[in-house]
Amino acid sequence: MVKLGKRSAALVALVASSAGPLHASGTMLLCPDRDIAVTSTSPESAVLACNYAMQAKTRIVACGLDQNRPIQIFIEDRIAHDFADCLATYDCSDDVIRVTDPVSLSDRLEEENPYRVLPVNGLFQALISHEMAHALLEQSSSGTDLAFVDHEYVAAAMELDSLDQEWREALIDAAPVSLPPKAELISAMIYEIDPRKFATNAWRYFNAETDGCERIRRIADGDFSFSKQPR
Ligand SMILES: [Zn+2]
Repeated sequence: MVKLGKRSAALVALVASSAGPLHASGTMLLCPDRDIAVTSTSPESAVLACNYAMQAKTRIVACGLDQNRPIQIFIEDRIAHDFADCLATYDCSDDVIRVTDPVSLSDRLEEENPYRVLPVNGLFQALISHEMAHALLEQSSSGTDLAFVDHEYVAAAMELDSLDQEWREALIDAAPVSLPPKAELISAMIYEIDPRKFATNAWRYFNAETDGCERIRRIADGDFSFSKQPR
């Protein structure tokens, strides 16, 4: 999930089965990749979401994760969650992604949110890439009880990796981390304090590895967890 505020109940995000009834308003568009469908009142937003979801899937699949079940994306004006207001969510119980409509996104961001440096389409792409990573990690890890921090690590790394370099650098500059990337900084506590700095460190850590995708595959297989590393 991608929250609006810095401090909210992130640790409950992955049991996000209670985000309320589906808002099925709008028309469903089956994407060219027919395992992804988008429902929106805006045909333009639906096409954009298809394209960003397919781009993200290509990147994530290249890293060794798979899509095993269809994914539905609902574009909504506002995503009210039981525990926090969100810009986007993924619900693992029914493989549904909800993402805020691009026309509403800038109104929903707090003044100091680093996402403000992105153009609206860049933010829309970031949110969809983030939730697609959650979805494909969940679908690729059947039988593995994934830790929250591992889910957010994969989502953050794939979100930033899916963006154009210009947008990625702008977002990283807006949430800078002066320390070199290290596993000690990939923790649920740091995510709670500042999810964008968590993301900056996650993407740098992913890129500093000889094969960042290998760690993602090990997380999916249950062979590695940041939650079990010494602090
Ligand atoms: Zn997330």
